[in-house]
Amino acid sequence: MKFDDVIGQEFAVKVLKHSIGSDAVSHAYLFAGLEGVGKTTTALAFAAALNCEHRAEDGDSCGECWSCRAITEARHPDVELIAPETEQTKIDQMREMRRRAMFPPIRSPWKVLVLERAETLNDDSASAILKILEEPPSYAVLLLLTRNMSLALSTIVSRCQVVRFRQSSADVLRAALQERFNIDEEKADFLSRYTEGRVGEAISLLEDEAFFARRDAILNLAQLAASAEKPLALRLAEEFRKSCAPSDKPKKKGKSAPAAGAEDDAEASAKSGRREIRQGLDSLVLWYRDLLSLALLGPDAPVINLDKREDLAKALPSVSRERTRSALASLTWAKRALAGNANPQLITEVVMMRILRG
Ligand SMILES: [Zn+2]
Repeated sequence: MKFDDVIGQEFAVKVLKHSIGSDAVSHAYLFAGLEGVGKTTTALAFAAALNCEHRAEDGDSCGECWSCRAITEARHPDVELIAPETEQTKIDQMREMRRRAMFPPIRSPWKVLVLERAETLNDDSASAILKILEEPPSYAVLLLLTRNMSLALSTIVSRCQVVRFRQSSADVLRAALQERFNIDEEKADFLSRYTEGRVGEAISLLEDEAFFARRDAILNLAQLAASAEKPLALRLAEEFRKSCAPSDKPKKKGKSAPAAGAEDDAEASAKSGRREIRQGLDSLVLWYRDLLSLALLGPDAPVINLDKREDLAKALPSVSRERTRSALASLTWAKRALAGNANPQLITEVVMMRILRG
């Protein structure tokens, strides 16, 4: 894991390289930026650069020494990645992190602890690590990652050097995806736009074979929704959640008895991760944006769902611009509600109620 592997975060990389080069490494950093912009990759690249046995002059790691390989293979005893076990980071987990930070490194100069989703720290769990943030051992570097600065506790923020991560431009990301993953331009273009420049997200979708199948299912629903009316909303919401279920169990089609439907519904809700629901909402957003673009600019308008051009053209006459705009507004609301931990079932039902004709 090298700084060279980090895509589109030149600013953050420059700050970190500079701190190594000028012997001004802080003991605590807060990496702030949206989910999937590359915070974890950068954290590991920083850990590698700190502990590399043959660091290059530009501050990057060699990628080949024992330490570099151990970090890439997640077996370095002095570099730890800690993810919250629940929606809230527990106090026990932070006590354990504090305990580990107090042990000097075994094989390398620096002990690096990376804490993901630091916004899930509450007052109690944060207080367990305040002491090491205030009086860090000389060898310790704590990297706290957060997707939302405003959710991070001020007691934490004030004790860390903040490094901001931005979304990279779709063009930068598309070129990088093509070059590094050898995928065709259409796919790279779609992923860079779909993820709005969030590199980590684009790469994880590339590796998630079921993603494109889930997207197909969601866009089929969008086509059904074009001609459906409000009484079908709850049914379509249920189908939406099933389409988002991470398992690739065949989806039930057609009419099923209400009781069986309810049972399936609970099962699907439990299986549908919030991440997949968010991706489903994102797929719908792009579908309606494409419809709006076609409605405003005509059949040759640029669309993001290049592979769905025909389906879009077919759906266009039955969805008025007014309905497209209101669908986009309710999807924006839904994404925000989901990020704020609202119930996915409720969200999908409200969205469908608003999208369908009535
Ligand atoms: Zn190295």
